[in-house]
Amino acid sequence: MAEKPALLIFDVDGTLTDSASLTRSAFEKAIEDIYSIPNSSEGIAPYGKTDQGIFREILVNNGITTTDFRTQFDNMSRLSAIYLEKGLKASKLPKLHKGIRSLLERLATEDDIFLALGTGNTKINSYIKLDLHGIGGYFPVGGFGCDDEDRIKIVETAYNRAINYYKVDFKKQFTWIIGDTPLDIECGKAIKVKTIAVATGNYSVDELKQYNPDMVFSTLSDEERFLSLVRQTA
Ligand SMILES: [Mg+2]
Repeated sequence: MAEKPALLIFDVDGTLTDSASLTRSAFEKAIEDIYSIPNSSEGIAPYGKTDQGIFREILVNNGITTTDFRTQFDNMSRLSAIYLEKGLKASKLPKLHKGIRSLLERLATEDDIFLALGTGNTKINSYIKLDLHGIGGYFPVGGFGCDDEDRIKIVETAYNRAINYYKVDFKKQFTWIIGDTPLDIECGKAIKVKTIAVATGNYSVDELKQYNPDMVFSTLSDEERFLSLVRQTA
């Protein structure tokens, strides 16, 4: 075992791949089926939010009661996963961001680097999105949008599950949240781990810098810089 194992907790949309707009239309189709309300997510900015958080906002915006929220969410997400998979297969849109495939291939060969997901997407949607590009297998563990509505709890879950899964007691100064939104950075700070922001989503390098992540990259294509950063001592 390496002396200083690093845990890298990756966000999905805007960081690894881009299919957030397809998630939105899958949500809308499922909600239209269940509640007969079209275009239900209009006016909602999803960036960095969790699937449960987005769903609650949609229900509230459309005047739908949330008294049985968890069951409502489970029903919607089961249906939306079917629409998402169909939408992804029919679309030319979803691509991996620049350098991601090569970075993941490289990280997989490093025995001091361990990977997890920390995402607002449900587990099923996360792997639908990643398996489309053949990269789901790099992430055997994670925290997901079906685990909690609160993104901080999701990344905390990802961290704890990774410790159990890999049987490595990851130190927080060698644990990194990698994401494309201010919310990813805030979550990393909240659980006292390191943060890397990447400007491949909806926020620019300058916008992300204002939230003081440990590092901002325009893309994750410089493998050597990325590796030397995550291996730095605290
Ligand atoms: Mg994201």
